[in-house]
Amino acid sequence: MAVILDGKATSLKVLDKVKERVSKLNTTPHLVVILVGDNPASKIYVNNKKKAAEKVGIKSTILEFGVNITENELLSEIAMLNNDNDVTGILVQLPLPEHIDKNKIITSISPKKDVDGFHPENGGKLLLGVEPYFYPATPQGILMLLDEYNIELDGKNAVVVGRSNIVGKPMAQMLLKRNATVTMCHSHTQNLNEIIKTADIVISAVGKKIIRCKMVKKNSCMIDVGIFRDNNGKLTGDVDFDIVSPTCGFITPVPGGVGPMTIASLMYNASKVYL
Ligand code: NAP
Repeated sequence: MAVILDGKATSLKVLDKVKERVSKLNTTPHLVVILVGDNPASKIYVNNKKKAAEKVGIKSTILEFGVNITENELLSEIAMLNNDNDVTGILVQLPLPEHIDKNKIITSISPKKDVDGFHPENGGKLLLGVEPYFYPATPQGILMLLDEYNIELDGKNAVVVGRSNIVGKPMAQMLLKRNATVTMCHSHTQNLNEIIKTADIVISAVGKKIIRCKMVKKNSCMIDVGIFRDNNGKLTGDVDFDIVSPTCGFITPVPGGVGPMTIASLMYNASKVYL
């Protein structure tokens, strides 16, 4: 039976380290989270981020705007935050309403305050192998979890399923930086099962029960980023845990795997101050 990669326990360790790091700074980091509209899931995420920030001594503010805020109004709010030396991190909770161009908003955040690591300057640096100000929280949290369990990446075959800008693409770059041999899969990939069979490490970020096969490599590592509700309303992930866990060597649970690591990793980012 596989070793369960305990994201909850590891995230608490990371948060302890972040708390210690914050206590040694000669300034208090201040994270501003922007929430537009009244998406209930977004409200929960934003409140969880605020709670985590408070636990580690990071000041946090949630700025809430109605769904009808214009793109220009939002851009001016961000410009003010960029110029405010009391604010060290800015995060815009996604999704945004359709009339607002997400990419324009992300690009308007100062790369030095872009704690999500989604700004093109940070993404571009990651692609070029230059140190960005911030790495995206989910892939960075996954690497923290792999490191906690001493899972070797150098020279290993890593398969990333899903090519989103927030998980799949940065994950692939970060694995390359750690000298893994990376294969990226997506909805047009042929013979996904055959590719999964070759993987020492699988990172699945799809949002559908996609890894059902028993044919995972013996002792491989399964990182399940996906989180969604099944037909019975139960939270589940991309990987069929019961089928895969007897064969693989390491596996993340859902919930309690990648989710808590993402928050801890975000707090690590929010503790970085570039003024
Ligand atoms: P996304 O934007 O929802 O995109 C899904 C990706 O999956 C796309 O690249 C898509 O391919 C690919 N895909 C869809 N069907 C597929 C199939 N049959 N075979 C292979 N690939 C397929 O991705 P995301 O935002 O990264 O989210 C993915 C999941 O991770 C969601 O469940 C989300 O809730 C979860 N998530 C969790 C955390 C966390 O902290 N736990 C953080 C972020 C996301 P195409 O590009 O070809 O369409």
